[in-house]
Amino acid sequence: MTVISHRTGTEGRLKGRGRRVQARCASRRFRRLVAGVGAIALVLSGELKAQAPPVDEEPAVPLVHLRRVDASILQDIRYAGADNFTGRPVPGYAAAECLLLRDAAEALARVQKGLLQRKLTLKVYDCYRPRRAVRAFRAWVEAPEADPLGKRFYPGLDKSRLIDLGYIAGVSRHSRGDAVDLTLVALPAKRVPAFSASATYGPCTGPAAARAPDNGIDMGTGFDCFDALSHTKTTGLTPEQQRWRQVLVEAMAQQGFHNYPKEWWHFTYRPERRGRSFDVTISRGRH
Ligand SMILES: [Zn+2]
Repeated sequence: MTVISHRTGTEGRLKGRGRRVQARCASRRFRRLVAGVGAIALVLSGELKAQAPPVDEEPAVPLVHLRRVDASILQDIRYAGADNFTGRPVPGYAAAECLLLRDAAEALARVQKGLLQRKLTLKVYDCYRPRRAVRAFRAWVEAPEADPLGKRFYPGLDKSRLIDLGYIAGVSRHSRGDAVDLTLVALPAKRVPAFSASATYGPCTGPAAARAPDNGIDMGTGFDCFDALSHTKTTGLTPEQQRWRQVLVEAMAQQGFHNYPKEWWHFTYRPERRGRSFDVTISRGRH
């Protein structure tokens, strides 16, 4: 509309009636043209909206279910339930499933093949992690409320320090689908009581028998234990615990997984390579 008034004003300064009639006709044609273009734009945007995928759908996400690559690897996906440091299911985890990039899943299957011959199995706690879950962790750290689970997951720290100390990432390699949190389980796997959200469990740094139930080999701390005792090569472990950490690190390293020195359970497949992160919901059978 601004353009039209400007044109009319310019034309009004021109001499002669014919000129003014011409200007009015030109102005009407221009208005019709604008209305037509606007209508086309509305139709187009309506069509685009109808075709746009839902927010959490990213086409061509190359993640696969680990279960389909190797069903023998145990899965205990903690962020899909209440047995994690936030005390509730984490956004993006609609199913307790491990998703990974295919080559990372296949490399993990090769690790598993070697371990099975030693009567051991891998058990994954977390694999691909949606970006919205990483954001939720950050919001949890920044929330001012006292945390009743602090004594269990970070008995020696204030939760506001967990990002600075490197225990919780602002941006996680897990969101790229090539990082995995896991442990070893001796076969046959022991049956353990189910986790109970109403039970009180001992700190993750305490004796394994007092921690929340886990049939994994005792590595000296529980999973997601934000404490110096979780540093892979820490002092203060029994020789057995040290040896088991070494068994896990070496088995993983043979297939290209690098351990994060602050967490004995965290491994990245080929950390040197570049990639992109994803934000799709973890579901049972879409990938
Ligand atoms: Zn991790």
